[in-house]
Amino acid sequence: MTDFLNFIGGQWVAPSTGAYFENRNPADTRDLVGRFPASGVDDVERAVASAARGFDLWKRTPAPARGDVLRRVGDLLSARKEELANIMTREMGKPLAETRGDVQEGIDTAYYAATEGRRLFGHTVPSELRNKWAMSYRRPIGVAGLITPFNFPLAIPTWKMFPALVCGNAIVFKPSEDVPHTAHVFVEILLEAGLPPEVIQLVHGMGEVVGKAIVEHPGVPLLSFTGSTETGSFVGETAGRMHKRLSLEMGGKNAQIVLDDADLELAVEGVLWGAFGTTGQRCTATSRLILQEGIHDRLVARLVERARALRLGDGRVAGTDVGPLVHEASREKVERYVAIGLAEGATLACGGSRATAGDLAHGFFFEPTIFTGVKAGSRLEQEEIFGPVLSVIKVRDADEAFAVNNGVKYGLSSSVYTRDVTVAFRALQDLDNGITYVNAPTIGAEAHLPFGGVKQTGNGHREGGWEVYEFYSETKVGYVDYSGALQRAQIDNY
Ligand code: NAD
Repeated sequence: MTDFLNFIGGQWVAPSTGAYFENRNPADTRDLVGRFPASGVDDVERAVASAARGFDLWKRTPAPARGDVLRRVGDLLSARKEELANIMTREMGKPLAETRGDVQEGIDTAYYAATEGRRLFGHTVPSELRNKWAMSYRRPIGVAGLITPFNFPLAIPTWKMFPALVCGNAIVFKPSEDVPHTAHVFVEILLEAGLPPEVIQLVHGMGEVVGKAIVEHPGVPLLSFTGSTETGSFVGETAGRMHKRLSLEMGGKNAQIVLDDADLELAVEGVLWGAFGTTGQRCTATSRLILQEGIHDRLVARLVERARALRLGDGRVAGTDVGPLVHEASREKVERYVAIGLAEGATLACGGSRATAGDLAHGFFFEPTIFTGVKAGSRLEQEEIFGPVLSVIKVRDADEAFAVNNGVKYGLSSSVYTRDVTVAFRALQDLDNGITYVNAPTIGAEAHLPFGGVKQTGNGHREGGWEVYEFYSETKVGYVDYSGALQRAQIDNY
């Protein structure tokens, strides 16, 4: 059995606490992946001090040269795609097709970031005064604390880390304690690609200790957090009090809307993938299915038949559609929501129980579950479950569907299936989400477009695409007066 280490001060080191936690395969808990550092506040102290030294070096490295390192990272991720996909599936459970996609998203993000180093645009604009130059340009900020969840063990860290690095910041990385092995290999790849050692620090451990210490550290002016809205609230309060720059990506309660004129087979394919892919543990997972009354019964019948046929199992075994939940606490949460749904009077159309037949008994499996007759405003319809549970809500028309979609505190993604182009464009305009898909499921973001949600899903920033580079850099303005005289703006010229 392997004891893994932190990466701090340019070296792989044991935690100051001497303590480790176990990482087990959620599809078969007899399989121990390894023991990882249960680090303490002292480790965070040393990591921040090292990152400050790394920042001094990295901020002076030309941005195109920083981009070159990321191009090599992209090459190494490509070469090790299959190995990384296997590592991810083993420690968090989603099937290999999905973890391969997770690596690919990291590769895409690397190559996008690599060229962005040649494109950190500022503006040059005319001054209002003669013989005076005016321009804006971008500067790095400092040490970035990156705190990530379990469900995209590679893609989400790359969304944060690559733009942060291209912009010239140094990193303290705290991965989810559920996926530390992926984080370990990822940092090995960064170093192999030529990232100067003190630019990256990897500190494993519990959120309430390591994550909290990073959030509260005065030497970390820049924070990016993806995780639950509850944890995000703590991060947001602290960052607000300490005047830190913060990007938050949090929970969702995403809906797929299917209207009477839709291609029903396409809609069924979409919701199966959206609701039960990654065992419902995606921030963009389809948690609600809003059906117009004309197609409601037909679509539910077809969907239940297809959901019952999904194969549960180890994601590394060919033919597996749905893996386990990430740990027992997640499965218990799903069970609590099944009980809540029943108590609220919703009808259980399929699933609703743990799946324990044969080898499934060794993992955290739960049957794909569909509730019908779910009322808008009920807890089942409003709260994030983060598991394979779909709530079906019946509506009269598109207006009611849009109102139900918008009637939750979250606003990440939404989807509408219709053949009516006017309704499709109304959905793009009126649905209160950061992303709306037309005739596609609530899942499917691409690395070169901005990603994020409105309302309590986020705090206004975006990951991905061009916008994230603004988050990881600070705009500075420079004026050069070459007139040789004192020129007073707004005074001497008017
Ligand atoms: P989580 O909030 O439990 O943990 C996320 C990270 O925060 C982990 O690294 C954890 O160790 C750390 N953490 C926990 N307590 C902390 C504290 N007090 N201070 C600092 N850090 C702390 O979330 P999770 O269970 O890993 O992920 C699931 C959640 O993430 C869901 O709510 C999901 O919607 C959300 N998510 C959102 C997006 C998005 O882009 N909006 C993407 C993926 C996941």
